Amino acid sequence: MTKVIDVELRGIMKKFQSNVVVQNFNLQVEQGEFISFLGPSGCGKTTTLNMIAGFLDPDGGDLLIKGQRMNGVPPYKRELGMVFQTYSLFPHMTVAENIAYGLKLRKVSKQEMQERVNRVLGLVKLPNVADRYPKQLSGGQRQRIAIARALVIEPSLLLLDEPLSNLDAKLREELRDELKRLHHEIGVTTIFVTHDQEEALALSDRIVVMNHGFVEQIGTPLEIYNQPASEFVHTFIGKTNRLEGEVIGIDGDVLTLRTTGGMLVKAAKQQRTVALHEKVIIFIRPEKIKLTDTAVSEEANRVKGHLQLASFLGSYTECEVKVGEHTLSVKVQMTDSSVDRQEGQTVYCQWNADDVLVMPAGRG
Ligand code: ATP
Repeated sequence: MTKVIDVELRGIMKKFQSNVVVQNFNLQVEQGEFISFLGPSGCGKTTTLNMIAGFLDPDGGDLLIKGQRMNGVPPYKRELGMVFQTYSLFPHMTVAENIAYGLKLRKVSKQEMQERVNRVLGLVKLPNVADRYPKQLSGGQRQRIAIARALVIEPSLLLLDEPLSNLDAKLREELRDELKRLHHEIGVTTIFVTHDQEEALALSDRIVVMNHGFVEQIGTPLEIYNQPASEFVHTFIGKTNRLEGEVIGIDGDVLTLRTTGGMLVKAAKQQRTVALHEKVIIFIRPEKIKLTDTAVSEEANRVKGHLQLASFLGSYTECEVKVGEHTLSVKVQMTDSSVDRQEGQTVYCQWNADDVLVMPAGRG
């Protein structure tokens, strides 16, 4: 099947005065895809989304929607649905009037308007609030209405700018699942801006990781998590242990590394090649380290330490283990057979060579 490209950014650049905030942004969004722009505050996510929406014009490059060059085309000619961080509903209009607003502008008949309003209220699971005013709704409900309002025009593209960030943690998760369900149900091509890595991992077909106006990596959630293109991507997505060291042996695909604290680490085949004696940065995710009590000998990838801190967090316990001069963060999943971890215990940390990520130090 040939892929249909709904949105294409070709070498997009944006500056404010002399300040370049988006640089050489290249992306093809396939029809039906859910894409997230993920990165820290100020990295250019909203600016890029606003260029796609037509609120800002690029200063370089080409923006295509459904194959048509869109530079300079105003937002209302782009047939997009957009949801912002703040609910942005009209306070003096009922829910139904808010949702119908875009249809009125498009001169849709009264009967069709009513049918479409009811349909989207059903889609966002709020069939009985049509006559209420926004102030009579909770934050989560208001954001569902904002989503319904964006969907009612049957947009070719849905743009979401941090729509969940004003909600409390539980609602956030609920609405995140709702968004996923909605996307499965209606399949509209969606671009979602967030600085929350969990949200991006949970929702996206692909994630665009951005930093300082640059695209660091574009990939599926698994690729981004397991094969990060840079230290920035690895450390931004989830917790990790970061150790500095040197390559002291190479045997086929297996590297032997010694950390600055004298710990021996074996690492299996890496995406990026490193040379013997090269200075490297070593990463091990906390959930990849196992804790055992057995007094085994110390060797590479199995080290003795002292449990300094154990924070029980429900489904897992977050531990800090002092190993020589290193402090390793370890995430212990709770199972029926989990032992109660006590601070001060002597423990052994062990991990697999496959779970060690090695990057050359100072090579970017
Ligand atoms: P956040 O998550 O905080 O919204 P972001 O990744 O969406 O951040 P942008 O809002 O796109 O980042 O901003 C990118 C950079 O452009 C920032 O340094 C910001 O200060 C700057 N910027 C954004 N809008 C303007 C503007 N209208 N005039 C000048 N500078 C701007």
